[in-house]
Amino acid sequence: MSLNIAKFGGTSVANIDAMRNCAKIVIDNPSTRVVVVSAAAGVTNYLVQLANEELTSEQINDLITKVEEIEFAILAGLESPPHVMVKLNELLSLLRELAFHEEILHRPDLKDAILSLGERMSSLLFAELLCQMGQQAENFDARKVIKTDNEFGQAEPDIQVIAVQAEKLMKPELERTVLVTQGFIGSDEQDNTTTLGRGGSDYTAALLAEALDADTCEIWTDVIGVYTTDPRITDKARPLPELSFEEAAEMATFGAKVLHPATMVPAVRKNIRVFVGSSREPEKGGTWIAKNCQQEPHYRALTRRKDQVLVTVKTPSMLYASGFLQQVFEILANHHLSVDLVTTSEIAVSLTIDNPPNSVRARLNKATIEDLKQISEVTVEEGYDLVTVVGNNMHSAAGVSSRIFNAVRDFNLRLICYGANPHNISILVKDEDSTDVVKVLHRDLFEE
Ligand code: ADP
Ligand code: ASP
Ligand code: MG
Repeated sequence: MSLNIAKFGGTSVANIDAMRNCAKIVIDNPSTRVVVVSAAAGVTNYLVQLANEELTSEQINDLITKVEEIEFAILAGLESPPHVMVKLNELLSLLRELAFHEEILHRPDLKDAILSLGERMSSLLFAELLCQMGQQAENFDARKVIKTDNEFGQAEPDIQVIAVQAEKLMKPELERTVLVTQGFIGSDEQDNTTTLGRGGSDYTAALLAEALDADTCEIWTDVIGVYTTDPRITDKARPLPELSFEEAAEMATFGAKVLHPATMVPAVRKNIRVFVGSSREPEKGGTWIAKNCQQEPHYRALTRRKDQVLVTVKTPSMLYASGFLQQVFEILANHHLSVDLVTTSEIAVSLTIDNPPNSVRARLNKATIEDLKQISEVTVEEGYDLVTVVGNNMHSAAGVSSRIFNAVRDFNLRLICYGANPHNISILVKDEDSTDVVKVLHRDLFEE
């Protein structure tokens, strides 16, 4: 029988009614044997505040109450069996303990422990709901399988170990029961809880699909598929029936929040088809992401990634020198910074660095800049967004880029980059311009 992994995002499990829609989707597809859930909408944001902000006891209590209200409201919609209430209260006690821990603001391991609680609570409640709706289901601790390094907040999964653990602990159960597990969380070699970065539940689903050799992986969210651009930027955005692996990977990397940036990586490795649809309106269908598509248009979609940092390193010794770029990249790699766009001139190199919450902003710090200053003059510019046009054969067809540049002729473009593959062209613009840039590009490339 074929195997499907279904992932439900935060809004899909935000309350009991939303959860019921998800439960129906699971029950309607007998191939769905593994369910991955996010924390209920809003919960992870509260946990991030508890983990990172200097708060008074009153503020801490207020945040805990907000989390409790969300979880208890879901529990109230269940027939509140005592064993679930006991487990939920255990998790809430742990939340309180961690939130008031003296070292919470300074210990990344404690931060990840607290961040994991949203998924641990929602998976407990969702498993119970499935049971009450007549579907045999069990809550499964993802940390036993999703083994990672100890880069807390942005942990890197260990694919080989995950495959072994999934085969040993999950596979044998799937005939008997649906396993409801947590997205976003894992554990390191010492069994400390880790997290995969914000939005990481999509990545968990893809990693489990890979490890369990699934046929399909469904990402159920609040939109009826992947759109031509974020429907929150323009109401002219429209859902796409199909996308290729490459296009989806580019979109995820360059900021389409609907998929965590790494989601496509495991899917591509194992050629697993990925579906994106709305848990509220499953009947409306969604986007199928597969190796090959029926059509390969030059322009498929637009993405925007906010909070980009532009670093320029300049040194006269770069003139005719070899090895300078290598030094620059080595320093950035040592600080775990991943570089996106690179442009060079005779004596300078500019590069953009993504600044996702919880990770890079913390690392593009004094230490990185000090290291770069050892070998060059450094300037750091903030306040940019990266807008990317994703499509096909963008390098080989005449006129593809001129249409793009013509559309944005009235804007100041700080940097332009042709991707190293034929699927993207990116431009860096001032953050206050980016909404308009996406709108005019959308109009010229998709609405005519
Ligand atoms: P979930 O909690 O289900 O993971 P997310 O909020 O992470 O949901 O992702 C869904 C959101 O992604 C949508 O509501 C939409 O605003 C945003 N988004 C950004 N780009 C796109 C796109 N190209 N297509 C669809 N949604 C997009
Ligand atoms: N709950 C986590 C977050 O809000 C992970 C996820 O939703 O994918 O980032
Ligand atoms: Mg998400």
